[in-house]
Amino acid sequence: MFTARSKPGITVTARDAEKANKPFYCPNCESEVTLRRGYVRLEHFAHMAASSCEYAKETELHIQMKLQIFKNLSDTIGSQVKSIQLEKPLGIIRPDIYIEGKKKNIGIEVQASALTPEQIISRTKFYFSKGIYVLWVVPYDEKRFYKYNNITNRMVLSPFRVKEYERIICQMYFKTMILWDIERDPENGFMAFKISDCYTEGTEFYDRDYGELRSFAPRKQKTMKLVDSIQPYLELGDLQPKIINSFSMSMAGYDLPKRNLMIYNWLK
Ligand SMILES: [Zn+2]
Repeated sequence: MFTARSKPGITVTARDAEKANKPFYCPNCESEVTLRRGYVRLEHFAHMAASSCEYAKETELHIQMKLQIFKNLSDTIGSQVKSIQLEKPLGIIRPDIYIEGKKKNIGIEVQASALTPEQIISRTKFYFSKGIYVLWVVPYDEKRFYKYNNITNRMVLSPFRVKEYERIICQMYFKTMILWDIERDPENGFMAFKISDCYTEGTEFYDRDYGELRSFAPRKQKTMKLVDSIQPYLELGDLQPKIINSFSMSMAGYDLPKRNLMIYNWLK
């Protein structure tokens, strides 16, 4: 994480903090954290030992994404909004990036590790109760979406294994995932993937026991998805704030709550 508390009530960022000002405390779990600053790793605060704090589980990928998105937003919309803040505490949640706009507020959740459906849904409800528009961003990983094709000698889009939390995010955003690629220049911004269902191949075979030809129609695969189209360069300004009604997902065992989201409109 990039922020900690040095004295009661005083928040410091890792970039501006001095080792002399320690001790530093995690704003989430209140335990002592250390300032890390190196040539390779970004300056940040780290928990001491094994900790169950949400911030102790942050990966390097999460930290990189958070900082790159923050930089991109500061450059693109920084002058048009009231403030852009990292790890803003808002009651029970802390969006990775919080944008206080002139007309609306936006919370960005970088999702590089697994959240349960319950966690995603309860956060979505909380954002809605505060009137904050939320954008979930997942990491782009070329190896997940592209496979090498021996015939064309090229990397081609291929079915990918969808994670449980990604499936919920896809549903909430009308089959769209917003991604961030830490390998690119942050100036390139976000990416949007339009996701569609993946089907097994239908089969036909002669069943000896029944003495007849039987066939299986293609079936929808639960854990595999396809990328239909890609918008590779996206700014936050290309997304629109939308209020969306709740939707029952009886097959999945949960309902999507009423929500305020930043939506990408493919027809535009
Ligand atoms: Zn903590």
